[in-house]
Amino acid sequence: MNKTSIAVFAVLAVFFFAVYRTAFAGGENAPPSRSDRVVKTDAEWKQQLTAEQYRILRDKGTERAFTGKYWDSKEPGVYVCAACGLELFHSDQKFDSGTGWPSWFKPIADDRIDEHSDVSYGMIRTEVTCARCGGHLGHVFNDGPKPTGMRYCINGNVLEKKPVPGAKAEEKHE
Ligand code: FE
Repeated sequence: MNKTSIAVFAVLAVFFFAVYRTAFAGGENAPPSRSDRVVKTDAEWKQQLTAEQYRILRDKGTERAFTGKYWDSKEPGVYVCAACGLELFHSDQKFDSGTGWPSWFKPIADDRIDEHSDVSYGMIRTEVTCARCGGHLGHVFNDGPKPTGMRYCINGNVLEKKPVPGAKAEEKHE
């Protein structure tokens, strides 16, 4: 190769790398943002998760409205990621959105979820994923209630509900 073709090749390489970065920045290939991130192979996830959990978390599927877990749950609890156990949402911020999916106006903390622009299915939406394992959780919309105005619309089948830490356990009558 002469100098000119090397220069052209270098410019093209930088150009395509920039396009690639733009296309995938924050997209589906973005790694989880937390330093304690959990990274597993597809085979490992398939072994660990139920088929329904895998379909939603790893293939960005959606449960049918009014059919999943927790959409109608009003009892106190902390909702953790079913894949990695990270505490994502609290019952104190849960509200009845009427959509058939469990909804919150904010996560437990900003470092629990990552947001990505999602242009699939001809819609411009913001996807939310677990910040530790990268699993797809649902989407966030800006038509939620006060105080944030946000609506985190989440697939309940990829959550597990745990007791609120420090809360008195329900008395058992034996
Ligand atoms: Fe997770």
